[in-house]
Amino acid sequence: MTSELWILGVVVLLLAVGLFLLFFSQRKESETGLPRGRIIYTDTATWFPNQAPLSDRNLKLTGKPDYLVEEGGQIIPVEIKSGRAPQSPWEGHVMQLAAYCRLVQENYDVRPDYGIIQYEDRAFAVAYTAVLEEELLDVLTEMRQDLFAADVPRDHDDWGRCSRCGVRLDCDQRLAD
Ligand code: SF4
Repeated sequence: MTSELWILGVVVLLLAVGLFLLFFSQRKESETGLPRGRIIYTDTATWFPNQAPLSDRNLKLTGKPDYLVEEGGQIIPVEIKSGRAPQSPWEGHVMQLAAYCRLVQENYDVRPDYGIIQYEDRAFAVAYTAVLEEELLDVLTEMRQDLFAADVPRDHDDWGRCSRCGVRLDCDQRLAD
């Protein structure tokens, strides 16, 4: 595979993460009924933006957390989300954060106990448990399988998502405004 194809594959993989989010969040919440994060106080003045993308060659995964915060000998990834916070973090956001936790572990050789999702009005600490890591690996496996599938059905009915989607012009399953 050429490097261009490899990069394209990674980009498509990351885009596909977004597609998987809603389905996964609804399924998980209905299974457990438990929130996936606890509300915490954050002092964003002490945060410094992260400039460097992190990568995991084995997983062929690359990502750039918005912030990396040093705390108690750990490096905590922080993802900033626009908009007001839901009751508990959207599952897609949790999976994205889990991917960042994995990348932090891979790149800094220290496993973070948790990561932070900061919405406009609230922040959640999400524990990076072995179970969450396992879920992340499952999602990545499913996404890779879908990457080479001839036809991947749309997994939502949200036209707003389609209207904001970066591949809508090439997608034959987009929902009309
Ligand atoms: S246009 Fe809509 S259905 Fe197509 S990939 Fe984007 S979000 Fe999914």
